[in-house]
Amino acid sequence: MELIDGNKIAADVVADLKAEVATFPGRKPCLALVRVGEDPASVSYVRKKEKTAEEIGITGKMILPPADISQSALEAIIDALNADDGVDGILVQSPMPKQIDELKIFRRLSPDKDVDGLGTLNLGKVAQDDDTGFVSCTPAGIMELLSRSGVDLKGKHVVVLGRSLLVGKPVALLALQKRAGANGTVTVCHSGTTNLPSITRQADVLIAAIGRPDFVTADMVKPGAVVIDVGINRVPDPTRKTGYRLTGDVHFPTVSAIAAKITPVPGGVGPMTVAMLMKNTVKAFKLRSPQ
Ligand code: NAP
Repeated sequence: MELIDGNKIAADVVADLKAEVATFPGRKPCLALVRVGEDPASVSYVRKKEKTAEEIGITGKMILPPADISQSALEAIIDALNADDGVDGILVQSPMPKQIDELKIFRRLSPDKDVDGLGTLNLGKVAQDDDTGFVSCTPAGIMELLSRSGVDLKGKHVVVLGRSLLVGKPVALLALQKRAGANGTVTVCHSGTTNLPSITRQADVLIAAIGRPDFVTADMVKPGAVVIDVGINRVPDPTRKTGYRLTGDVHFPTVSAIAAKITPVPGGVGPMTVAMLMKNTVKAFKLRSPQ
C-alpha cells in the first residue's frame, strides 16, 4: 500500500506558488477571506488559509461578520469586495449560519474573483471542459493528488460517494472530462443508491465524500483500488486534550490493508484544498493584472 501524502504534495504546490509570486513586481495577489460567525471548524480552516496565503506572499484580507448578519448585509459585503480593485479572490467559508442562503452568496461573487469555484459560471465551465475558470478547491485538489501520484483515470471505473455541490458533483465532472489524466467511467452514489457496496466494490478509484465517519469498510472496496478519503469528521475522543479526533469517511485500518494507494485523514485531501485555493487566487490575480 502506498500512502498518498497530501501534506507533501500540497507543500510542493505552495512552494511553486511562492516562487512564482516572488517574481511579481509591485502589487501582490490579495485574497479576501469572509468567515461568518465563530464555527470552530471554520475558524481553524480560515486560519490555515490565512497562514498559507501569508507564506506564499498573498495578502489575506479577513472579514469577520457576526453570526447574526442578514442576507442583505452579507450581500453588501460581497458587492463591496467585487468592486474593490485591490481584491483578486474572495472565499466565503461554508457552512454559513441558517439565515443565509449560501447558494445565493456563491452566485453573487463576481466570476473573476470566485476562487472557490462554486458560482454558476465557474461550475458550468467544469461541465463544459473549459479550463479558463476556477475549479472548486477540494475537487481540484483531488485531481492534483491523483495526477501527482501517477494515477491516470483513463479506462478506470471511478466511483464517487456523495453528490454535494462542494465535492461530489464537481469531482465526478472532472473525472469524466475528455482530457489527459481524466477520461474515467464515473458512477456517483448518494443516499438514494441501493446496494451501494456492490457498486463501490467495482471501483478502481473510490472517492468518498459523504461525511460519515469510517463508513467505507474493507468489504466495500476492491483489493488494489485507489481510495481517496475526503471526509473530515470530528468524533468524540476523551483521550485527546480537545475531546475529539478527526477521522475520514473510510475505515483506514482495514481499507489501507487492501488498497493500492490511499489518502490519510488528516494529511490527505485537506491540505490540497488550501493549496488549490492559493493556486486559484494566483490565477485570478494573473487574469486581472497580466504580468
Ligand atoms: P454534504 O454536503 O453533507 O453531502 C454529503 C453527500 O453524501 C450527499 O450527497 C449525501 O446524499 C451523501 N450521503 C450521506 N450519507 C450517505 C449514505 N449513508 N450513503 C450514501 N450517500 C450518503 O457533504 P460534503 O460537503 O460533500 O462533505 C463530505 C465530507 O467531506 C464531510 O466530511 C466534509 O467535512 C468533508 N470535506 C472535506 C474537505 C476537505 O478539504 N478535505 C472539503 C469539503 C468537505 P444525498 O445527496 O442523497 O443527501
